[in-house]
Amino acid sequence: MNQFTAMEETFDSPVTVSVVDTPLRDDAFELTEQEKINKIAKHFAEIMWTLGLDLTDDSLQGTPLRVAKMYVEEAFSGLNRENKPKISLFENRYGYDQMLVEKNITLYSHCEHHFVPIIGKIHVAYIPHDKVIGLSKINRLVQFYAKRPQVQERLTVQIVNGLCEALGHTDVAVWIEADHLCVASRGIKDTNSHTITESYSGAFKDEYIQQKFRTYINQ
Ligand SMILES: [Zn+2]
Repeated sequence: MNQFTAMEETFDSPVTVSVVDTPLRDDAFELTEQEKINKIAKHFAEIMWTLGLDLTDDSLQGTPLRVAKMYVEEAFSGLNRENKPKISLFENRYGYDQMLVEKNITLYSHCEHHFVPIIGKIHVAYIPHDKVIGLSKINRLVQFYAKRPQVQERLTVQIVNGLCEALGHTDVAVWIEADHLCVASRGIKDTNSHTITESYSGAFKDEYIQQKFRTYINQ
């Protein structure tokens, strides 16, 4: 395994992470989802209180619990491998052997540096061998990896690896174009820039196949 040990000053102990996996502690799932929600709600109330907000206000009092549920059950549900979608494959009875492109999959993720949204589009392609994948499963797999604190580069590689694992071969391509709200709404405040990442494996390492893929996604 391609692993290294990273030390964060905010952690008590060294954290072992792999270069592609999202860095999680070994004890990441010792708490139940409900325990996580309760704990995050308490901490988020503390953040709001520190900012000077009046938590007895009827518009604000439910916010800590809302944020905690949103983090655990929706925005970061992809941290838990138990939420990984079951991928069913079907016999490729038709002998389809050209690329299949699933384009304009909606991307909604969160930047792990600022915890603000990353919004964009993902285009995925694969070349079927003896099996084909249910189209909605591609979408579900993308959403699973997007529902984590992310950087776009890692998300791109995780989707490619996840698809290769599901298909049992490596003829997969992923293209992501996204806006990072941490760039648009704060700091440099650039609302025009987009970030593009791409990853090609197997047959898609071939320049001609890549060109064909890019032609489809630019149509
Ligand atoms: Zn950011």
